Formats: sequence, structure tokens, C-alpha cells
Amino acid sequence: MFQLIIFGPPGVGKGTQAASISEKLNLQHISTGEILRKAVSEGTELGLKAKEIMDRGNLVPDEIMNGIVKETLENINGKGFILDGFPRTLNQAKALMEIFENLNFNEVKVITLTADDEEITERLLKRGRSDDTRDTILNRLNVYYNSTTPVKEYYEKLGLNMNINGVGEADKINEVILNKLI
Ligand code: ADP
Repeated sequence: MFQLIIFGPPGVGKGTQAASISEKLNLQHISTGEILRKAVSEGTELGLKAKEIMDRGNLVPDEIMNGIVKETLENINGKGFILDGFPRTLNQAKALMEIFENLNFNEVKVITLTADDEEITERLLKRGRSDDTRDTILNRLNVYYNSTTPVKEYYEKLGLNMNINGVGEADKINEVILNKLI
């Protein structure tokens, strides 16, 4: 089993690719965005806290996210998984490394999907989720460049990152990813 982190800016296709790869390779798809959206729709304490933050395109605090991921991974029962949307800050990346060490997960792979801002903005506007308004998208991109890109450098330094072009047909991109993994 291996641990795959799928990384990249909002709207680059992480969710689509993670869903398809997890099915093909029998991995658990862990999307922190989905976990948060479920909490929002269920109106839990977490959901009430997260809703406003997400609608503005800001990040839910690290302590909360690190706790959610820790609990999820502690209950994974030896299954391989894809992390989609986490880590998004250096603090989260370091917390994740500690979780991996404690759980003896040592087949970590990182794939970064790339696309330019214009492409991403167009895609998100078409998708039209409640956080896909022009203002929120702009903020999410800023947050990505300010808080999330250091995570990419962190994995690059560890020699774990593989870049893949996220522009093109989803099926083709999927094939490229699979080829890197197997
Ligand atoms: P996208 O990849 O399009 O940005 P996600 O579903 O991954 O969409 O995330 C939606 C929102 O959920 C983010 O803008 C953020 O507010 C929140 N979120 C998701 N994952 C995290 C995380 N790891 N840390 C903090 N906030 C998160």
C-alpha cells in the first residue's frame, strides 16, 4: 500500500483525478474539502465554524484540520489512500509527516498538478460551487500562493514531488498519473 498526496491549486482537478485513481487502485479517497462540506451540510459544530471560512476562501485552522486527518488516518486499517486538499500549509505538512512516522507509513508519493491561474479561474467559474465566485477564487489563489506553495517546496526538498501537467483531457492526465505510480 502507498500513501499518495495529490497537490496543486484550487480547481486544477485534484478531486476528479483522486476519485478515479482511488477507484482504479483501490485506495481510500480522503478529501478534506469534502469532509468539511459534509460537516457544513450536517450543521455540526465543525460545519458551523467552517462555513464562513470556506465561503471566503480562507483556510480552516491547522489545529482543526490536523486533528481531522490524524483521526482519519489512525482508522485507515492498512488501506492505501489518496489525500486530496491536505496538507495546505507548512504546519499541516509537518504534522502529516509526524502522523506518517507514528503510523509507520513509509511509501509516500506526492503528485502536483499544474495549471495557470486563468485556466483555473475559468474552470472554477464554470463549476459554480458556493465558493466559486470571482472574489473568493481570487482569494483562494492568493492563499494558495502565500500559504500552500511552501508545501510544494517542502516535498521538493525531500525529493518526493512529481509535477504533472493538469491541462488537457482528464483521462489522459489520469493515465500519466497512473504511469508515475505503478
Ligand atoms: P479546492 O481544491 O477547489 O480549493 P477543496 O474542496 O479542496 O477545494 O477545499 C475547499 C475549501 O475547504 C478550501 O478553500 C478551504 O476553505 C477548506 N479546506 C479544505 N482543505 C483544507 C485544509 N487542508 N486546510 C484548511 N482548509 C481547508
